[in-house]
Amino acid sequence: MDPAKKIREIAERLRRHFGPIRWRPRGDLLSLLVGTILSQNTSDINRDRAFAALKERFPTWEEVLNAPLEEVERTIRGAGLYRQRAKRIREILHRIKEERGELSLDFLRDLPPEEAHKWLLSLPGVGRKTAAIVMLFGLGAPYFPVDTHIKRVTRRLGLWDGRGDPHDALAPLVPRGREYELHLHLIRLGREICRPRGPRCRECPLKDLCPFPRGDGPA
Ligand code: SF4
Repeated sequence: MDPAKKIREIAERLRRHFGPIRWRPRGDLLSLLVGTILSQNTSDINRDRAFAALKERFPTWEEVLNAPLEEVERTIRGAGLYRQRAKRIREILHRIKEERGELSLDFLRDLPPEEAHKWLLSLPGVGRKTAAIVMLFGLGAPYFPVDTHIKRVTRRLGLWDGRGDPHDALAPLVPRGREYELHLHLIRLGREICRPRGPRCRECPLKDLCPFPRGDGPA
């Protein structure tokens, strides 16, 4: 099947299986960006704990910017890689403050999406996935972040050959306006059914579309 047709069919089936999801605004864009940086290579629970600790210790981004770096590191320790993350968050806050005069990303709402995306990618340590998350979740713009679950699932489904950046391979295939829902549905599929080990292919709503050798891993 043509890959664009196939992904459209996948989007439909996952909507039927998991139910529709509508985009809703996530509030503060800078919080979304910092939360995304804290979520890299760690669990949602650790990210949420680290973010909550950061906000409790430093209620404003100004305070995060002006605090001793070691204190910021200590506060987000639970997220792992805390030195690297603290340094990155501080560099980003510095850059925003220097360039915009205030610690806010609200100006992105007034830019054309391509420009907002390009600006995000110019921030230290912000890659395709992080920029796409801010664009999609924060601005409702048609970007498709690819995380570890989506990489695995789309590879098994034969939508990506594992070479190059999966954003390049997958974004053009996603039906316009379905980015948000499909992103969340593929992650859910990856967590609950198409698990890294022991995928539950027998109960998968995509099994007849999937060339991956069948698995029926332990429940
Ligand atoms: S059939 Fe199996 S390998 Fe293919 S998408 Fe479903 S769970 Fe994953």
